[in-house]
Amino acid sequence: MKKLTSLMVTVLAITVAAIGQNTGYTSKKVADGVYSFGGGPWAYYSMFVVTNEGVIIADPINADLASAMMKEVRKITDKPIKYVIYSHNHWDHISGGKIFKDAGATVISHIEAKENILPNPNVVIPDQTWSGDRFDIRLGGKTVELYYYGANHGSGMTVFLLPEEKVLFTADLVVPKRVAFMFMPDFSPQNWIRSLKEIEKLEFETALFGHDIPTGTRKEVVLQREYLEDLTMAVGKAMQSGDMMLQSVSLPKYKDWAHYDDWLGMNAARIMLEMMMGY
Ligand SMILES: [Zn+2]
Repeated sequence: MKKLTSLMVTVLAITVAAIGQNTGYTSKKVADGVYSFGGGPWAYYSMFVVTNEGVIIADPINADLASAMMKEVRKITDKPIKYVIYSHNHWDHISGGKIFKDAGATVISHIEAKENILPNPNVVIPDQTWSGDRFDIRLGGKTVELYYYGANHGSGMTVFLLPEEKVLFTADLVVPKRVAFMFMPDFSPQNWIRSLKEIEKLEFETALFGHDIPTGTRKEVVLQREYLEDLTMAVGKAMQSGDMMLQSVSLPKYKDWAHYDDWLGMNAARIMLEMMMGY
């Protein structure tokens, strides 16, 4: 037990040391001017776009990651940081924007995201909002298309598409090779499936994600939707057979995905609650 405790302290110390030191981050160029950036202690990822008139930053995540991203951007270009675009209203993706705001960036989000950001001194409130289901940002010959599909996760959830480069960026709606996060906080499961079907209609070849595995293709988007559909089917079957504790729910196809053993039950319970409550 003593050994375990000292190991835990060591792990905690390493984790704390990693925060605030800009360590453990990686940058990957996926298309002309388009980069995935992130990592760090909790494996969060974002995207930035470099044009000849300035830089567009997606989620700033947190202050440490944002300052590491700023350093990385400055290795590539000295053009101004023009925009920071939030994917949704959750703190864990949109804290740390101050460094870009102080450098002159305009912070943008969907109106629904801005209106549902809970007070937090680390989150820069958006300077500009957009509404409806589509908004385009153009800078230095590049276009970033922003899509809103209504309720799915959080508020004002925005999917980014660079049509010329065929690159998609989505935070939280797709996490490759991992079952859904715990009890699916702030997710609307059937709207999530509907939104993924809409995303699959977009033209992209490279997909960038916000958690765990930063880059992939449309295959990961399809698999995320299939997982949720298979889970919904399995939960429906269990309920029909009177198994309201959902003990019979298992999805062997996904057994190698991260957190299959500890989160599948929570995922299933969330699906059942939506079926019972319409929420
Ligand atoms: Zn979120």
